[in-house]
This record gives sequence, structure tokens and C-alpha cells, in this order.
Amino acid sequence: MLPLVALVGRPNVGKSTLFNALTRSRDALVADQPGVTRDRQYGICRLLDQPFFVIDTGGLTDESEGLAGLTSAQSRLAVQESDVVALVVDARDGLLASDLSILQEIRRANKRMLLLVNKTDGLDIDTSMAEFASLGIAEMFAVAASHQRGLHPVLEAIGKYL
Ligand code: GDP
Ligand code: MG
Repeated sequence: MLPLVALVGRPNVGKSTLFNALTRSRDALVADQPGVTRDRQYGICRLLDQPFFVIDTGGLTDESEGLAGLTSAQSRLAVQESDVVALVVDARDGLLASDLSILQEIRRANKRMLLLVNKTDGLDIDTSMAEFASLGIAEMFAVAASHQRGLHPVLEAIGKYL
């Protein structure tokens, strides 16, 4: 069984785009609409010596419950079964309350965590990172998944945990 890295975060932050970049596949459905990925999706990343599973999650907000955050059972399961959790946030939206509730859930699960600040293309990276630094996550990375930018340091950090 390969180690598991889960991509979690609000809808539309770029999890599926990251999944595709890491697995070099087009398996994950990328869409402009939030909430498109309904299930957990597994792919293998072979960009390190040690291959690992990447889990893409819907990261759904359950609208029927009206709750923000990691309310999707699928996302919860992904966090639970993973060795490393990559919390993905959107630099354009900035830090939102639902990011915080997702973070709380990950902390409760006591997992190794990386923060991926996505969509930093065209933004001032220092400004973007400063906003998210308040989360107190030691390992944070500026990335632009759709441009395949910033992924190498992320892979290195993941590699330390595998
Ligand atoms: P998910 O819901 O978290 O899986 O998000 P998706 O991967 O489906 O992406 C949502 C939208 O954000 C799509 O329109 C992507 O093309 C766009 N997107 C993803 N990554 C980036 C990025 O690095 N920069 C920009 N500007 N857009 C991105
Ligand atoms: Mg998706």
C-alpha cells in the first residue's frame, strides 16, 4: 500500500487541478462550478522516488445542512485515511471562514499538514502568504496549479513524510 496524500479544501480552490498536475492525468474533473467532484478520486504521483497516492476530494459543503467546511463524509474519510493532508486555499479569495473550519477538522485528526496557497499567479506572493501565515501552519507553499508552478518544494516536503 502506497502512502496517501489527501487534497482537501473548499470547492473551487483548485484541488482537482493540483491532482492532475501531481498525477499527470486528466482524470479529475476540473470545472468552474464549485462542488463538481462528488467522490474521492485516487491517482498515483510518480514524481518522487517514492510513489504515493493522491486523493482528490470534493471538499463539499453540504448545502442541505447549511454547514460550511469539511462536512462531506468523503473528505472526512480522505483525511482519516491519509498520511499527509494538503490543505488547499485560494489566494484570490483570501482566508475565509470555511477554510478555518476545514483546518480545525484536520487538526482534530492530528495529521501532518501542508498549506498550499493556490492561484498565486499574477499576485504578489508575499502579500498572499502573509494573510495565510496567521493560520500558524509551519509548512506553507505558494503554488499556481494551473500553471504547474511551485510544485517542486511541495513535493520535497511531502517526500520528507513518506
Ligand atoms: P476544486 O473544486 O478545488 O477541485 O477546483 P478545480 O481544480 O476544479 O479548479 C477550480 C477553478 O480554478 C478552475 O477554473 C481552474 O482552472 C481554476 N484554477 C485552478 N488552479 C488555478 C491557478 O493556479 N490559478 C488560477 N488563476 N486558476 C486556477
Ligand atoms: Mg474538484
